[in-house]
Amino acid sequence: MKTAYISLGSNVGDREEQIAAAMQALGARGVRIVRQSSIYSTEPVDVATQSWFLNCVLEVETDLMPRQLLRTFQEIENELGRKHTVRRGPRVIDLDILLYGSSVIRTAELEVPHPRMSQRRFVLVPLAEIAPALRHPVENKSVEELLAETEDRSVVHRCKSGAVGESGR
Ligand code: ADP
Ligand code: MG
Repeated sequence: MKTAYISLGSNVGDREEQIAAAMQALGARGVRIVRQSSIYSTEPVDVATQSWFLNCVLEVETDLMPRQLLRTFQEIENELGRKHTVRRGPRVIDLDILLYGSSVIRTAELEVPHPRMSQRRFVLVPLAEIAPALRHPVENKSVEELLAETEDRSVVHRCKSGAVGESGR
């Protein structure tokens, strides 16, 4: 079993419902959710002319290897009806691997740690909620430090508390 951290985001349709559906689909595919951040309302950063996102971060345990995990994410994205149009543009659901144990992977298909996580408050704020002391294996800093140092100033509002994390499971 490996511990991984994953990011979920949605800015089209019933965003909360799609995040819930993605979490259910993860559970059904051998990805056990250990902790769940609150859900945050976040300002779009990469392509500014689109709707606000809901984002959250999960700590999970899984036997899937990183590439299998990525493939599982792509299956769930397709199942929930994501159309691949604009890269970093509007999406029904986006699932990203942030960290996978302390693995460092740099291939065309998959980069872990996620290469933009340190420049994204919509990742760092929820991650700091559930794992502030977690260390980034390349930057060798804690999530809390990355959040304090990031130059991103985009708006991230906590809007709904996480269920799994707060029940202590
Ligand atoms: P983004 O998440 O950057 O907004 P997409 O979701 O469209 O964009 O992903 C584009 C590609 O990013 C995917 O096809 C996948 O192969 C690649 N990718 C590289 N590293 C990761 C990662 N850590 N998590 C998820 N996808 C990744
Ligand atoms: Mg993605």
